[in-house]
Amino acid sequence: MMKTMRAAQLTEPGKPLQLVEVPVPKPKRGEVLLKVKAAGICSSDLHYQDGRSKVTRLPITLGHEVAGEIVECGEAVKGLAVGDRVSLFYLVTCGECMSCCTGNDNYCNEAEMLGKNIDGGFAEYLTIPARNAFPFPNSIPFSQAALFTDAVATPFHALSRAKVKTGDSVLIIGIGGLGLHAVQIAKIMGAGQVIAMDLDQDKLDLAQKVGATAVVNPGHENPVEKVASLTGGGADVTAELIGLPVTVRQAIDCTAIGGRTVIVGICPEDVVINPYHDLLLSERTLLGSADQSRADFPVIIELAARNRLDMSYSVTRELPLDEVNRGLEMLRKKEENIVRLVVTFP
Ligand SMILES: [Zn+2]
Ligand SMILES: [Zn+2]
Repeated sequence: MMKTMRAAQLTEPGKPLQLVEVPVPKPKRGEVLLKVKAAGICSSDLHYQDGRSKVTRLPITLGHEVAGEIVECGEAVKGLAVGDRVSLFYLVTCGECMSCCTGNDNYCNEAEMLGKNIDGGFAEYLTIPARNAFPFPNSIPFSQAALFTDAVATPFHALSRAKVKTGDSVLIIGIGGLGLHAVQIAKIMGAGQVIAMDLDQDKLDLAQKVGATAVVNPGHENPVEKVASLTGGGADVTAELIGLPVTVRQAIDCTAIGGRTVIVGICPEDVVINPYHDLLLSERTLLGSADQSRADFPVIIELAARNRLDMSYSVTRELPLDEVNRGLEMLRKKEENIVRLVVTFP
């Protein structure tokens, strides 16, 4: 085993990540040492880099969407072995509080996020509690498995919270890394119509390739009127994945009487809601959905392993660790039609 490894660390907000040589961590009791094989580059990484979202210590190795191979197990690790290919749930939780014990581990007060509060996957190795590592079969490439934790599990969690049922019309606002999977998950959950909304026509074309039955481009048409005409009044479920006041407002306005609006995009600004018209008269339900829970993982791995999820469009490009800063800049400038860029390791 090597004693040191390369890692891309945030040392100061506003600066490119620094490629440094650091010691390979040792797995503690209950932890595994992972040889990282793939780590997704997410818009959240831009927020950490810019200081818009605060990391809790510096320097820190970013990268929260990770898959790899177990190379060492600490004491008391059960059910996992050296050589296992695993995808990581990115919240390291206490495992004991009431939230953790009731399946709501995404609200654990002690949760620490991989690549934000603890060193993540833009490095050759990392250590993680064994309970965060979920094995997946050889048929799934590491670069796709890396995306389960956020790009797939986050919309899965949101649409589960919104209780999509057979025949529902579902509107997905924002067809990025999460939205492309949200379209497919809505179909798997039994949606009749799945409508994709985005300003980017390339993204809408991609949404249709993975099963969207209709697309709406607010740059060319009134989105509320278009959705109303497609659905006969509004979508039964609307998922907002962008996080702008205008799209949050559209999400509510596009939702049917008695329908559910679920907010997933990070929108720190206020949005005006009229409780009488928006909620009372229409009996709409307005929901939030944060991250995902461990319980979502086995379902997602099953869907990917059975080819129910088409992830062939999910990885736009693979980059070596040396080019992580180029990847971040490509994402920032929205170069190409990026779903996800993934750092991969030999
Ligand atoms: Zn992410
Ligand atoms: Zn907890």
